[in-house]
Amino acid sequence: MNAKSVSEIINELGEERAEYFNAVAPPIVQTSNFAFDSVADFRKAMSHNSEDYIYSRAINPTVRILCQKLAALDGAEDCLVVNSGSAAIFTTILSLVKSGDHIVSVEKPYSWAQKMFDNILPRFNVTVTYVDGRNAENFEKAIQENTRIIYLETPNSWNFYLQDLEAVAKIAKSKKILTICDNSYCTPLYQRPLELGIDVVLQSATKYLNGHSDVIAGVISGKKELIEKIYHNEFMNMGISATPFDAWLILRGLRTLNVRLSRISETTKKVLDFFKGHEKVEEIVFPFDKDFPQYDLAKKQMQGAGGLFSFLLKVNSVHEIENFCDALQHILMAVSWGGYESLIMPACVSLQPGDFDSEIKEHRRIRMYVGLEDPGFIIEDLQRGFDAIKGE
Ligand SMILES: *Cc1c(COP(=O)(O)O)cnc(C)c1O
Repeated sequence: MNAKSVSEIINELGEERAEYFNAVAPPIVQTSNFAFDSVADFRKAMSHNSEDYIYSRAINPTVRILCQKLAALDGAEDCLVVNSGSAAIFTTILSLVKSGDHIVSVEKPYSWAQKMFDNILPRFNVTVTYVDGRNAENFEKAIQENTRIIYLETPNSWNFYLQDLEAVAKIAKSKKILTICDNSYCTPLYQRPLELGIDVVLQSATKYLNGHSDVIAGVISGKKELIEKIYHNEFMNMGISATPFDAWLILRGLRTLNVRLSRISETTKKVLDFFKGHEKVEEIVFPFDKDFPQYDLAKKQMQGAGGLFSFLLKVNSVHEIENFCDALQHILMAVSWGGYESLIMPACVSLQPGDFDSEIKEHRRIRMYVGLEDPGFIIEDLQRGFDAIKGE
């Protein structure tokens, strides 16, 4: 996507300043309800295809400005902004399946996608087959007569495995199966699944889009017909619209999306250089690293990779990992990512200390997210972590 259109979308699209006193920043239209002057106006608004405002569970002016921008960034006809990334996933799947349907999903999708597939959908007689998505043929092999959806997440936000979007979209189209891709890792600035043939793109706006660690939200983008179907049904029934205030915060965060991602990408290179060849680092896993097994595919379908990666510490005990993490003074220990602050999340937080086995690589994995701090500030802190495990 060229810089001009990104700038146009982020700075200008959807902003009708004459409608709000020529204010440069759009207003937060904090209202539940909208009133009408006449029965005729009211009736017109109630007609199915009207774009008039009626009630903020449906659409609100502040939310609409954001919707226009996010749909344009995705290259989509339309989008919905909902109150979490998880709601975006659940709503989309729920709107597309009926009892008896089957889904082929990439293995280890985002944890709450997996929980929906494993715990909720079986109650409605919807089944899921997981496949290793690194080989597109695995999707084809898993397709059944009742397969309705292929669910993708590339790169996967935990193991960073990629799926070849163009290849999977082609397979799905030949069998009239819908494809959904979670694009939270890349954002539309770094990967544009709809242009590669994917039908629906989902994102957690909590991550890069908002980028300031103060909003939970999600986006569903796709063809107008499909988005409208979700809007008039599951979206309205569940009441999951983003609020005007959250939409306003995301609009504000979005202004700097491009510069944040550029800065984070630059800093990430420096942090990875620091890790590379470090005696205590066994491996780093990052799609834009030349040693990444799917580097060629990453370069083919992604325009950038941001700041999320993982590394394996060369240690023999869980205490060394704990010492490394606990010694950090600036990098925060937390879930999520995509904000201004650098973060780490060691895999061992999901293990009881007694279950740790240094022979199992996964146990020694640490996920890191590089934020907006100075590179030297981050690297100095990581050095503090390494110093804490030296000589153990
Ligand atoms: C965080 C995340 C989600 C869920 O988003 P929330 O806004 O936390 O509900 C979905 N997919 C991926 C890849 C994520 O990282």
